[in-house]
Amino acid sequence: MSFFLNNARIAFMILTTHASVGATLAVLIPSNPILGFAIGFGSHFILDSIPHWDYKLRSSKRNKQKPLTNDIIIGKDFYIDLIKIGLDALLGLALPLFFLGFLQHQLILMILCGAIGGMTPDFLQFVYFKWRHEPLISLQKFHISMHAKTGLNDKPLLGVLCQTAIIVIAFALV
Ligand SMILES: [Zn+2]
Repeated sequence: MSFFLNNARIAFMILTTHASVGATLAVLIPSNPILGFAIGFGSHFILDSIPHWDYKLRSSKRNKQKPLTNDIIIGKDFYIDLIKIGLDALLGLALPLFFLGFLQHQLILMILCGAIGGMTPDFLQFVYFKWRHEPLISLQKFHISMHAKTGLNDKPLLGVLCQTAIIVIAFALV
């Protein structure tokens, strides 16, 4: 997630894409659940560096010059955002479980660890917004620095197609 794209939004590649790629890598790379989580976590920043589209968060308050001061305002808009984010995260768990989990049931733990790892950096941003302490400050700086400086927010169709393609390619690799 980052703050460089356009004025109206906090921008982030959607959680479903992060979770799908995290789960795929955790399944593909022989590892244990903790390593699977770490692989998903690391993949988040690489995905963020690709220019992408995202949906709008109404409760975000941003400062383009000082992205570290960006915030999320708890109120009516936040609860609407929470529904959006919650559905995105649920889809992020459901898609890899459905497309990868049916292959082998013993993969389910790895899928969950990779998917949750892939989404965790964005959840930690919300924690940072409300609790600005280390190590979250350093992580937030790193997150911002890794994020693509250009995006596809003026091209939503292309943006959606790109993220769908990333998910399909990831699942096809398994
Ligand atoms: Zn992010």
